[in-house]
Amino acid sequence: MIVGEDDRSLDDRPDEVTSPASGRRRNLLWFRRELRIHDQPLFEALDPGRDEVVAAWVLDPRDHLDVVQDFSRAGNHRLRFLLETVRALEGALQRSGVRLVVRIGSPEDVLPDLCRDLAIDRLCFVEAPGTEERSIERKLEHRASVAIKSLPPETLFQIDDPRGFARDLPEVFSSFRRTAERGLALAPSRPTPSRLLPLATHASFDFGSVPEVGAFGLDDEPSDPRAVLGFEGGEPAGLDRLRDWMFSGDHLKDYKVTRNGMLGGEYSSKFSPWIALGALSPRLVAEETFRYERERVANDSTYWLRFELFWREYFRLYLLKHGRTLFRAAGPSAMPMTWSGNERRFDAWRSGATGIPLIDANMRELRASGYMSNRGRQLVASFLAKNLGVDWRWGARWFEHCLIDYCPAANWGNWAYAAGVGADPRGFRGFDIVKQARRYDADGAYVAHWLPELQELSGSKRHAPWLAGGPAPIVDPARSLEVARRRWESAEDFCRRNP
Ligand SMILES: Cc1cc2nc3c(=O)[nH]c(=O)nc-3n(C[C@H](O)[C@H](O)[C@H](O)COP(=O)(O)OP(=O)(O)OC[C@H]3O[C@@H](n4cnc5c(N)ncnc54)[C@H](O)[C@@H]3O)c2cc1C
Repeated sequence: MIVGEDDRSLDDRPDEVTSPASGRRRNLLWFRRELRIHDQPLFEALDPGRDEVVAAWVLDPRDHLDVVQDFSRAGNHRLRFLLETVRALEGALQRSGVRLVVRIGSPEDVLPDLCRDLAIDRLCFVEAPGTEERSIERKLEHRASVAIKSLPPETLFQIDDPRGFARDLPEVFSSFRRTAERGLALAPSRPTPSRLLPLATHASFDFGSVPEVGAFGLDDEPSDPRAVLGFEGGEPAGLDRLRDWMFSGDHLKDYKVTRNGMLGGEYSSKFSPWIALGALSPRLVAEETFRYERERVANDSTYWLRFELFWREYFRLYLLKHGRTLFRAAGPSAMPMTWSGNERRFDAWRSGATGIPLIDANMRELRASGYMSNRGRQLVASFLAKNLGVDWRWGARWFEHCLIDYCPAANWGNWAYAAGVGADPRGFRGFDIVKQARRYDADGAYVAHWLPELQELSGSKRHAPWLAGGPAPIVDPARSLEVARRRWESAEDFCRRNP
């Protein structure tokens, strides 16, 4: 735990904006998606004997409140989880005497003003792999009239120059994994400094406060009681989940077997919401898997959690490599597919009303809780892009709105992959939804959990309610998949003839 040097309350602090001690440097640490104290890259940039610190977090309305299609970029669950996370960070920093300034606005406007008002010498931040984030960083470099310390994007592996590394990233995940496992070490988590020097500020300085979800006109609905977990934002809750799932519950040893589940809190780690906002460090998670292996057991499951973190690393590097092309309809693989803009189909998909229970249950879970299993995400993404033929980017945007673990690289990378326009662009892949239902929800318990109207049907009949007099699904699963296959093959054929 960080111990602040200055225990005085703010009002007791000297009414001045420059530090009385000569040789001190006044730092503004801009927290973005590393909302934690442990394994904190920003602290690495500090000279503990010299650097005074104040922190800032900026809610950028363009990222959260802008409306795309007919919904805001962040929905209520995502915003609630984010604001809880920032509140926890504010508390943790404050316990070490460091204050968090909270602002709403464009970081490239807000931060230069803050630097001026607080007589800052140096602005520090961690670069993000996203393209919008990168353009903000560039504007900031032009506008801020202070020294800037920008740290490279966070990585799980020891990679000194992630941008340079990403230039040669293989297009196929397994090649990356093999190269990384052979040639790269996992980076150790960073030590937590024993103290930080708080920056002295005017007693009248307005630090702002973390807003409530309601301030943005969104309902602060509690998560649905049927959700897999009562997700609470913030570093302490993330660290608790790590300890509880891995050690107290001892679930890691079975992870590879259970990870395709959809029902309940323990089939997978559920670390993603905390990892996505940086409230839980992936480096720490990887280290804890090794500790588990030393103290308990090492098997395929204990390795597999690290394997999934490698996927996350891959998609972050993939976004660094491909930039804006990841957000285009043809994706990084430049696949000339035609996508439909059929709003009726999209609405049926997002509201869980396609008539196919496994799709509808997953989509209702997403909307009600802000979370969906990895199995569910793969199925619904494939269904929208393949069976319904709807522009996959609409689905990615809906996920962006809903998911409490939304992360640009993981979301858009996985969506492009599912649509067949991203990484591993080999051959047509689509799910036979009937087979998937038999395999992953044989007794229909999951679909009945989210679609109570199916509870009257027994077992596998829950997956075909139309056979028991219910409405027919909006598309025939087998026929629509066949149409998608032909669309994909003709796009592939076009590519072959026009290399
Ligand atoms: C269409 C689609 C969209 C997705 N969008 C996101 C997203 O916005 N944010 C996000 O974190 N994950 C996303 N994923 C990946 C994955 O579904 C979630 O990370 C996982 O379901 C989270 O649950 P968990 O923490 O229990 O995962 P676990 O199975 O316990 O995995 C452990 C951790 O590994 C990482 N991880 C696992 N699978 C993947 C993957 N395929 N890609 C990247 N990282 C992975 C996550 O950080 C996760 O917390 C998406 C997957 C698909 C198919």
